[in-house]
Amino acid sequence: MSDANADSLFCKILAGDIPADIVYESETVLAFRDINPQAPTHVLVIPRKHISTINDVGVDDHVIVGGLYGAAREIAVTEGIAADGYRTVMNCNAAAGQTVFHIHLHVLGGRALAWPPG
Ligand code: 5GP
Repeated sequence: MSDANADSLFCKILAGDIPADIVYESETVLAFRDINPQAPTHVLVIPRKHISTINDVGVDDHVIVGGLYGAAREIAVTEGIAADGYRTVMNCNAAAGQTVFHIHLHVLGGRALAWPPG
């Protein structure tokens, strides 16, 4: 599903109905700090367009999804984690631990990150 969805938690943040600590915004993307950070830097990068999961990304959305990575790159620089390294993660559906059904790229850094993830 890729229609506007006013009920999505992150659509409410986009609308300004729920406050967030915004660190980056562009015409297509918004980024804000995760409410329950798993690393010293933990930012969520979301598209302004509502897309529920990676499974719902259409061919027309490829530029938007690419923009999430462009934003992550800029955020890593401003957060001071670009040189040391950081991780980007996008969970898809229950088995991967997705809990908010509006795609979001986690940007995690500021500490050593183990691999493989749990
Ligand atoms: P997921 O588990 O879907 O990959 O990630 C959802 C993320 O959203 C979690 O890391 C969670 O802490 C974060 N989150 C959930 N509710 C809110 C909220 O209201 N504000 C912010 N900033 N982050 C949230």
